[in-house]
Order: sequence, then structure tokens, then C-alpha cells
Amino acid sequence: MRQMIAGNWKMNGTLAGLSAYASALRQGVEGVDLLVCPPFPLIRPLIEALGDASIWVGAQDCDAKRSGPHTGDVSADLLAELGARHVILGHSERRADHGESSTLVRDKARAASAAGLVPVICVGETEAERDAHETETVVRAQLAGSLPDGFSGLIAYEPVWAIGSGKTPSEDEVEAMHRAIRASLKKQLGEAGEAMPILYGGSVKPANAETLMRIPEVGGALVGGASLKAEDFLAIASAA
Ligand code: PEP
Repeated sequence: MRQMIAGNWKMNGTLAGLSAYASALRQGVEGVDLLVCPPFPLIRPLIEALGDASIWVGAQDCDAKRSGPHTGDVSADLLAELGARHVILGHSERRADHGESSTLVRDKARAASAAGLVPVICVGETEAERDAHETETVVRAQLAGSLPDGFSGLIAYEPVWAIGSGKTPSEDEVEAMHRAIRASLKKQLGEAGEAMPILYGGSVKPANAETLMRIPEVGGALVGGASLKAEDFLAIASAA
């Protein structure tokens, strides 16, 4: 199956910088799916700057409700109308900074699917949970709580301690966790869980991408910092 390399710009990027980024990215990479998730206001301009390139644009969050009195929130329907194809949900920064629970992530995933968006649901353990040997238990509970019945989308395994730290788990650890996630997906979703892509995220860089992308059960990468420079993002995609 083709791997997906997804970029999460977080609260970075400018309107002024879009055109140079898009023209570099338009070179693309054969045989890999590319997705870029900029901040909300840049979604439409990025789609326009990418033009007819086969590169998807997505969002980093959406609200669980369809519309209404929710100041500052953005609905999945509006994101779909803007042309977003995917939406990242349950990123550890949202779980930590905004107190998002797995139940809320599940409700957001329902809203996203109803709007025709493809959810990318993030799970992963903190350093304290890893030190306490609770990684699998934590991730299993996040999957059980965050995935609605009949979920269709992607999973991103992102150890929280690896995000933005320059640290990554060993290859054996990544493989073991992706296998454990696969087992949970099959149990929860049956046949639909067998082929669901499981991305790895956490300090993926051009220098380690090839090693990480070759690990069995790794269906691609969710890339934060290294997605901000088109050349680095493309170098990671070339390694997939
Ligand atoms: C992320 O924010 O999803 C992420 C993986 O960040 P980084 O690649 O910078 O570790």
C-alpha cells in the first residue's frame, strides 16, 4: 500500500510564504500520498497555491458540533466546503493544551466523517507513562475511547515524548506498538481495521525517515517541524 506523508504545521506558516512552499512541493514525489495541514486560515490559500498538484490539504482540528454558538470553533462542514480532505484529531498538543478527552475526539471524528472528511486520529503515551511501562495500556484505551463505531480513517501513533524532542523510539519499539495498534484496530473494527493506515509521528526528519518508513506496519509519517520546509518534507516523502 502507498504510504502517506502528512505535514502538521501547527501554529506556523504565513500567507506570504505559501507560494514558495507550494511551488517547491508541486514537484511532488512518485508513489507517495502527500497531505499538508496548515492553520485554518491558510487552508484555502494553500489549496489555490497548489493548483492541480495531487497533494491533499487538511486541517488540524474541527469542532464536534455541526454549527451554532461556539465562538472561535470551526465546523467540519466548513472545512470540507473549503476543500480540506483530512482532519487531524486528538493531537497530544490538543489533548494537553485544550483538555481534549478521547470521548471528545470520538465526537469530533463522527462530525468529520459526516462532513466527508477523513479523520487522522492521534494516540501516544507521555514520557511518564512510558517510564511506568504503561504505553500499550494507554494507547489501547485512547483507541477504544477515540474511535467511533464503524470508524474509517487513519491512525497516527505519536509518542508524546518524541514530538519536537529529536528523540524517537527504537525500531523494535515502533514495530511493537504498530503491531499492538493493529491488533486493537482489528478487535474494534473487524475487517476495516486490517488495512487501516497507521502513521508514525515524532521527530521524523530526512535523516531518520528511511529507517522509520521501512518498519513493518508503518503506513507513513505525521511530520511536525520538518514539514515546514518543503525540501525537508519532500526528502522525507522520498524515503517512503
Ligand atoms: C507532530 O506535531 O505531530 C509531530 C510529530 O511533530 P515533530 O515532527 O516536530 O516531532
